Amino acid sequence: PDPAFVDLNELVNKTLFFIAQHPESRNVHRIKILDRELTPVWADEKQLQQVLFNVMINALQAMTAGGSLTVETARVDHDGQIMARIIVSDTGPGIAEKELEKIFSPFYTTKTQGTGLGLAICRRLMEQQGGGIRVESRLGEGSVFTIEIPIPSGET
Ligand code: ADP
Ligand code: MG
Repeated sequence: PDPAFVDLNELVNKTLFFIAQHPESRNVHRIKILDRELTPVWADEKQLQQVLFNVMINALQAMTAGGSLTVETARVDHDGQIMARIIVSDTGPGIAEKELEKIFSPFYTTKTQGTGLGLAICRRLMEQQGGGIRVESRLGEGSVFTIEIPIPSGET
């Protein structure tokens, strides 16, 4: 890892710009809600970008028939530990309750060309940086992935 101060709003902008060129984003409306007060995190930017990219591509692949991708940043306080949060939501088919934890397991995939490694790697990368990634989903409504990473004290 090669940590540095990373502006997550800028990273979200870059990653959204990048996926906009992706053929799978053709039918998808992209919505961005950035918290302008968000201070930088201390992290490996390439690894964070890989996590964001993976989660956004999964969302696009869940919405090939069309839908909305919403990416939101926020600052949250977990009992004094300030975290930066990125929420990636889609209006795809959603994930069944009993599959929800499996999607983070290596090699779990429902795609013919999938590796099932994306989310397993995302979780490992986020945990290595003191953060995490979790999902909430409802069949027929869509999925919400929440990515969190600590903001160093003194930078809040
Ligand atoms: P892959 O994309 O190669 O299948 P991932 O680890 O990225 O592997 O995802 C694992 C599985 O989780 C996917 O195959 C899919 O079934 C499910 N999944 C991930 N993201 C979403 C999403 N946004 N909507 C619906 N299902 C999802
Ligand atoms: Mg994937």
